[in-house]
Amino acid sequence: MLTEILQRRLLIGNIKRSEVDKDLSKRWAGYWGEITLDKYLKELPANQYYIFYDLQLKIYGVHFQIDTLLISTKYILIIEAKNISGTLTFDNKFKQLIRLEDNEAFEDPRIQAKRNLTLLTRFFQSNGFKDLPIDYLVFFSNVKTRLIASPEIETELSKVCKAREIFEKIEACETAYQQERISHSEISSMTEILIRNHQPKKINILELYKIAPTDTVTGVRCTKCSTIPMVYRKGKWICSSCNFSSKDAHLEAINDFFLLIKSTVTNNELKVFLHLPSNDISQKILKRLKLASTGKTKSRIYHQHIERSVSPCGTA
Ligand SMILES: [Zn+2]
Repeated sequence: MLTEILQRRLLIGNIKRSEVDKDLSKRWAGYWGEITLDKYLKELPANQYYIFYDLQLKIYGVHFQIDTLLISTKYILIIEAKNISGTLTFDNKFKQLIRLEDNEAFEDPRIQAKRNLTLLTRFFQSNGFKDLPIDYLVFFSNVKTRLIASPEIETELSKVCKAREIFEKIEACETAYQQERISHSEISSMTEILIRNHQPKKINILELYKIAPTDTVTGVRCTKCSTIPMVYRKGKWICSSCNFSSKDAHLEAINDFFLLIKSTVTNNELKVFLHLPSNDISQKILKRLKLASTGKTKSRIYHQHIERSVSPCGTA
């Protein structure tokens, strides 16, 4: 998780520390919410749905992300998963969720889901799939969360559910969309288009938090006790705190560099970031990584290896 990398590399005492800590705990909560949803979706009848996670697509220059997408031969379902504890009131006037306990405001997930529905509809239309209806659900994973409709305005909560109630909502969708509209082979073409168009958005997290690269810690992290930096000695990384030694502890640091600082690195930049004693060792390490490179000799630039991974899984 990118926020986690930032947290471990942020200088002690940095002014943004509490903001990063808070955001990271929200991200973890979100992650556990998605895990809970995933667990439920595995209980769906076999051969009915193709399930996609974390799809990141673009339509007419607008980037959008769908956490969970179910496709069947009858309809498509977007599920927006939330893991927010406490007593939540849907404030229809300002389109937000207000938590009673600390008065914190959250974006109304129904708005997020509806936006995704509009964009996904456009995406499929522009790719030649017009016939499949798209619907959405907002899923709260925490059984203890209390959901309350705001008393002043009538609130439409039929698309909102909590924990195992999701099965009833999916059943309601199945009743609403009974007609077979596309074949399994058409779903395969859809899958191909989704995979081809999946574009993870590059986030410059330092820019996002307005943190300078110099406010981050350089060096290799000990995988056992988290001390930074480990010291390079005769082909090994040694932790000065717990004495742990490792041959490949630098791989995490290089990944951190690419994700936090920039997507390319020169031999000298790597030497400085890993606290290596010489350019030759840095060169050796870079060679072993087999990264794509441009330029010659000293000015050679090595490029981050990008993986594009999204694949359908689940019950179909
Ligand atoms: Zn250690």
